[in-house]
Amino acid sequence: MPELPEVETVRRVLLSIIPRSPILDIRILTPKILQNVTPDEFCTRLTGEVLEDIQRRGKYLILLYTHEVLVSHLRMEGRYQFEENLEPTKHDHILFVWQEGILAYHDTRKFGTMHLFRREEDIWKMNPLQKLGPEPMDEIMSVSYLKKCFQKRKRAIKSTLLDQTIMSGLGNIYVDEILFRARIHPLRPASSLNDEEITQIISHSSSVLQEAIACGGTTIRTFAIGTIHGRFQHELQIHGKNECPICHTTIKKIVVGGRGTYHCKNCQCIDKSPSL
Ligand SMILES: [Zn+2]
Repeated sequence: MPELPEVETVRRVLLSIIPRSPILDIRILTPKILQNVTPDEFCTRLTGEVLEDIQRRGKYLILLYTHEVLVSHLRMEGRYQFEENLEPTKHDHILFVWQEGILAYHDTRKFGTMHLFRREEDIWKMNPLQKLGPEPMDEIMSVSYLKKCFQKRKRAIKSTLLDQTIMSGLGNIYVDEILFRARIHPLRPASSLNDEEITQIISHSSSVLQEAIACGGTTIRTFAIGTIHGRFQHELQIHGKNECPICHTTIKKIVVGGRGTYHCKNCQCIDKSPSL
């Protein structure tokens, strides 16, 4: 599943690869990818439009055209591919045609989504973007903001950090790394964290994501994106590992909220944690 750093890499590559000329034609081979418009509407509104910029919010790509905004989520397997003479395969669902070539949205699972909005609409107040919390790097992210979100939550900090409505952009692997760096046990109730620990969470969330973005950005040269995890995989300290790099204790794998969770019983605040 592409995580925020991979989606950020896709954003940068798309920005460099999509022609800045009018879309000549759009072919919709799988209408169910489209969420809030009919295939006819989608084609009519986007044909002739020129890409101006691409932004990202959490794992959503936001393509800003002259008059329209296309919001794309890759879900499990989605990816884009651009070729001068592209012959669609059975997993290519939406084709955008320019004079310079064809961009195909490719998705073996067909879980990906596309929403289309008009530029004048306030997309931040509409689904799907309105439910997303700020990213760790955002200015609005602060100890007081997270403290307020955590106060009511008896849920484990691991599950709370995966909740995209509180903070967006953290996937399973990243949360394990962040909690390890912050020395916080994944089963600690979110409401039990003090200011210092919340500060650590914000700071490590931001650095883990930025390091992962930097790694992802340097490995991708070809344009078959979506399955790439970049070099950050080699930087992981806890997720999928056997031995703690600090104290050499055997790393424990437990299941928290249905997600495989790695932690070091010795380094991650065992005294404040529920017994395992
Ligand atoms: Zn340890």
